Amino acid sequence: MPERQVQSINPANGEVIESFTPLNAARIDTALDKAANRFRNWRTVPLAERAELLNRAAEVLEAKASEYARDITLEMGKPISQAEAEVKKCAAACRHYAEHGAAYLQDETISTEAHRAFVRHLPMGPVLAVMPWNFPFWQVFRFAAPALMAGNVGLLKHASNVWRSALNIEDVFHRAGFPEGCFQTLLIGSSEVESVIRDNRVKAVTLTGSGPAGRSVAAIAGDSIKPSLLELGGSDAFIVMPSADLGKAVKTAVTARIQNSGQSCIAGKRFFVHADIYDDFAKRFTTAFDALKVGDPMKADTDVGPLATLAIRDELADQVERSLKGGAERLTKERTVPGNGAWIAPQILADAHSGTPSTDEEMFGPVANLWKVSNLDDAITRANRSVFGLGSVLFSKEESEIDQAVRELEAGATFVNSMVASDPRLPFGGIKQSGYGRELAADGLRAFMNRKTVSVA
Ligand code: NAP
Repeated sequence: MPERQVQSINPANGEVIESFTPLNAARIDTALDKAANRFRNWRTVPLAERAELLNRAAEVLEAKASEYARDITLEMGKPISQAEAEVKKCAAACRHYAEHGAAYLQDETISTEAHRAFVRHLPMGPVLAVMPWNFPFWQVFRFAAPALMAGNVGLLKHASNVWRSALNIEDVFHRAGFPEGCFQTLLIGSSEVESVIRDNRVKAVTLTGSGPAGRSVAAIAGDSIKPSLLELGGSDAFIVMPSADLGKAVKTAVTARIQNSGQSCIAGKRFFVHADIYDDFAKRFTTAFDALKVGDPMKADTDVGPLATLAIRDELADQVERSLKGGAERLTKERTVPGNGAWIAPQILADAHSGTPSTDEEMFGPVANLWKVSNLDDAITRANRSVFGLGSVLFSKEESEIDQAVRELEAGATFVNSMVASDPRLPFGGIKQSGYGRELAADGLRAFMNRKTVSVA
């Protein structure tokens, strides 16, 4: 019987780019052995040496940014300039942990009656990372850079539509000179994830992806009593109050919604605008959406490319239809998009009724939902109706409004007068059905560590 193949398909035109043979059970076993064996030595490698290797990984990423970016765009369709920026951001994350890792890992001294008491951070071992296609490099590096700095080793199960990128990431660590087994890409489907999590050689699992995948991975990790971290979906609120700089708010709202062709967990997805400025905001927002350049993602000036797969496009188109049937009004003009691929026009839906996808679901593509609100209480109440709690944005110059938003918005982050963005210096993660645990900053480094309590009498 011929071996099963997994294909990367260019979502801009439907052409098959490359086929891959998934790992069989024997090769998975070999990889897990390699990871476990490498960990025994990697945990003893001095921090300065680990930092040096991360700096070299940053150099590889920068040197090969355009090559890796091309593969990203071919596989999942994001505009090429954004793909290149993503690869370079990974270099910055590697440098961040190379520079600050040692400080993040320092013992925490605690004063007790003992002669000495402290918490020491010790690595746990091989960590499985189940990752999505939307930022094929960034999602992986924001896990891998701190994990490797911490002395853990990484096993990547990447989304099945971006396996060239998955292999490119392994290539980065190989070229940087990391010892074999520190970071391995496992070309496996989601049905193999359970046995890998349950394997004794694997000590923890992190997943970035959808709710159903998160539920399954967390249940298996829980049953195996292994730590897990979940970065799931979001339907971030973006609130604009009368004191805001309206021009900046509109510009930021557009970028927040259409970055990555709208396929970002922390995209602004639900826009709540105060009645006093609503008409002006809606007009400018619509004009800006209508002016977006939709087209070939390989072109440097493209704003919005195709979605990553036909299935994702079909799901979003269905959500839009259901919201329109449920009472939403489309503000943007009809426009034709290229054929033969996973294309959808950027659009704004206004005043969708509750119980429709606009209010209740994550819409993963360039579709903005807009509502008029009477005051900040109204905006926050509606914002918090979502099951998700990832990021949130407030545009306002009023300190009392900023305080209220920080206190009351149910989200893992509130950004004021700018869009939500992940940054290696800032912890990142969600609450509610957006997941649990934090990546990046010191939190990300300590996510999968034994915080060992030591007391010396
Ligand atoms: P997905 O379908 O959940 O896939 C994510 C990863 O999980 C893929 O590697 C996938 O493998 C795997 N997977 C799927 N079902 C699984 C299961 N039952 N058991 C184990 N693994 C499973 O998500 P996606 O559509 O690729 O990504 C989009 C979602 O990710 C959105 O909801 C987005 O908001 C969320 N996201 C969250 C963050 C964050 O930081 N919070 C960041 C980016 C994206 P296969 O491809 O082989 O199925």
